[in-house]
Amino acid sequence: MTQPSRVAIVTGAARGIGEATARKLAADGLAVAVVDLDEGACANTVTAIHDAGGTALAVGADVSDAVQVAAAVERVTAELGAPTVLVNNAGVLRDNLLFKMSDDDWETVMAVHLRGAFLFSRAVQKHMVDAGFGRIVSLSSTSALGNRGQANYAAAKAGLQGFTKTLAIELGRFGITANAVAPGFIVTDMTAATAARVGVDFADFQKAAIGQIPVGRAGRPEDVANTVSFLVSEGAGFVSGQVIYVAGGPRD
Ligand code: NAP
Repeated sequence: MTQPSRVAIVTGAARGIGEATARKLAADGLAVAVVDLDEGACANTVTAIHDAGGTALAVGADVSDAVQVAAAVERVTAELGAPTVLVNNAGVLRDNLLFKMSDDDWETVMAVHLRGAFLFSRAVQKHMVDAGFGRIVSLSSTSALGNRGQANYAAAKAGLQGFTKTLAIELGRFGITANAVAPGFIVTDMTAATAARVGVDFADFQKAAIGQIPVGRAGRPEDVANTVSFLVSEGAGFVSGQVIYVAGGPRD
């Protein structure tokens, strides 16, 4: 196998969209740091990448903790090389109607999505500036446009769009692009948990979602991974500050 030319960090990569993205970037030839809360939970993704002939490293870190983020970036740099690709994917849901939403529901969602993306982006940007090349992709959502029961999540996902556009403006002259990918309905543990929370069988939940999706099917983690793969590629250097909806239609 040829030596990977770039080092990528994908957060929340133990499963779902993050796992598919880590596997795709590794297949593209990047060495991938598979970051998730529990290092042991990253084993599946790392093994799949190794089995396919790629390079991957499992790293345990809470993206919302500045000390853990700094340690993770240091370890990735020491073991894989300086990271110049970052995918801010780690996410959680704490859905509730506003009148029932607790302080903790709000703070947790802000901490993982917004502070997490901020901390990782700040920690890797110096490596990107040194390299004169960088790619930052953050996971937004169609929920950024508003979604019942998700005041916290919608605010965080809309916030990531503003964050992304600002990074694009600040970092562009160093060869760094920043973009957001905003998925619609993607079949993962996260959407399965939402179905369970509202007491609907997941198959029925998917059927209802598909009825609203112009291409007539649910999204798969690979749909998002393929879009991220393009945005972090060498050839995407003139695409920055964009929000790409990956939703089987104009929004959801
Ligand atoms: P998922 O299956 O729930 O996976 C999320 C991953 O993030 C899990 O492995 C989780 O670890 C990890 N994580 C959570 N908090 C973390 C933290 N503080 N530090 C490090 N890792 C953490 O979710 P998904 O559906 O793949 O979603 C991935 C991203 O896409 C999220 O940002 C989500 O908001 C966004 N998105 C998803 C959809 C969709 O339809 N699925 C749509 C739009 C946007 P644990 O397992 O330990 O909790």
